[in-house]
Amino acid sequence: MPLLKIVNPATHAVVARVPADTAASIRKKYQLARAAQPAWAQTPLAQRIDALIRFREKIVARREELAKILTREVGKPIAQSRNELNGVLGRIDFFVNHVSKAGRDEVVFADRGEKLEEKISHEPLGVIANISAWNYPYFVGSNVFVPALLTGNAVLYKPSEFATLSGLEIGRMFHQSGVPEDVFVPVIGGGEAGAALLKQPVDGVFFTGSYATGRKVAAAAGIRMIKVQLELGGKDPIYVCDDADVEAAAAGIADGAFYNAGQSCCAVERLYVHESIYVPFVEAFVAAVRGFKVGDPMHDDTYIGPLARKPQLAVLKRQVADARKKGARLLTGGRPLARTGNYFAPTVFSDVNHQMELMREESFGPIIGIQQVKNDAEAVRLMNDTEYGLTAGVYTPDRKRAEAILAQIKSGSVYWNCCDRVSPRLPWSGVGHSGIGLTLSTYGIQTFLRPKAWHLRSL
Ligand code: NAD
Repeated sequence: MPLLKIVNPATHAVVARVPADTAASIRKKYQLARAAQPAWAQTPLAQRIDALIRFREKIVARREELAKILTREVGKPIAQSRNELNGVLGRIDFFVNHVSKAGRDEVVFADRGEKLEEKISHEPLGVIANISAWNYPYFVGSNVFVPALLTGNAVLYKPSEFATLSGLEIGRMFHQSGVPEDVFVPVIGGGEAGAALLKQPVDGVFFTGSYATGRKVAAAAGIRMIKVQLELGGKDPIYVCDDADVEAAAAGIADGAFYNAGQSCCAVERLYVHESIYVPFVEAFVAAVRGFKVGDPMHDDTYIGPLARKPQLAVLKRQVADARKKGARLLTGGRPLARTGNYFAPTVFSDVNHQMELMREESFGPIIGIQQVKNDAEAVRLMNDTEYGLTAGVYTPDRKRAEAILAQIKSGSVYWNCCDRVSPRLPWSGVGHSGIGLTLSTYGIQTFLRPKAWHLRSL
């Protein structure tokens, strides 16, 4: 078996070498999952729920150890790794508490005279492929595999090659919790393993990752007439109105832009500020960013660690050079840090415009551009001037004004006086290059079920 090298992004040390799957082992895993799925679907829901509750208990019991594994392989500051593990508990609770209702049979019409009944039942899709990203392996993974398992599907789970150790731990905890080994099956490897997985006759593909890879997944799976769900990137904007509390908005948005070194799908990546508060806002924002502690992700007080993937440093350098060439003002940062590890200095530009890559391409790093706007109409136009549409937000004390602006924005989620936020109770979806389909909320349970229409006429 080929070996996958796991490298610590903070030190460049090799942390582990893990056996990777081959096309043949993936085919075998698929066949075993296919054979195991019907019995899992017939397992009483209460038993499936119990298994998920035990899985939750294992996360709680091993939280510190799991956080360290995650930090070691993706470079996420340890406090943020703990946050991710804590946050996943609420998601599991939501799914566990809502699964029975989402899967319940529903009689939608009954007429005694006509002796006719119409009913909807819900069946699991079958065997699904869950190809995942590294930036929040527990979050984005659990959005898929928790409801998928609860609704009776078998899951072939391919964690990102950059979050393999966490993916293997997730598998181990499921198996120890009573989910059969052939029902939740980690598939280990990089893009080639993902591509080989897509060659299997699965019943659905649930992908989280970049737009570039999402296109390949859509091309491979779309012609197969199976469910394809793509949760992709973003270039998420925030607009700060003239009546906003400058200090509070600056602090909140800086966190939304730089948390996890900006490597969140819903990180704030573009900032529009009303001209009347532009100067004080930019000053407060830069001060907030300069206050972030950059360093060893294993330290409790580190806020910004290294980037998970080394090639992203080159992407950021290119965006910096392009922005400078086109007249943006560099206010802080702008280069990789002179230390071992994939560190990039937190970077803020003002005086940016939409000719710059920084305002068009997903950065996925600790960098942001701030652009001045004259009024709400200009802000709306610029916020919508993107191929993406994951989230967008407005800061103002005036709810009516915020709602009027947000109603015009083309994106899956909108925020008023908050950002970079995900709730298990609300659907998570994207517009345009941010993807198709959704996770979370009760819709995010139903997406793993196939509604069956029953036309029943008694004689
Ligand atoms: P990526 O696209 O590089 O990889 C995602 C997954 O696809 C990995 O598991 C990878 O091994 C696999 N893969 C690569 N090539 C493949 C192929 N040809 N066929 C099948 N699978 C293949 O993305 P990433 O770097 O892991 O994650 C970062 C991206 O994910 C960012 O764009 C981010 O915005 C996005 N993201 C989106 C959400 C969301 O909810 N919308 C959440 C998290 C991350």
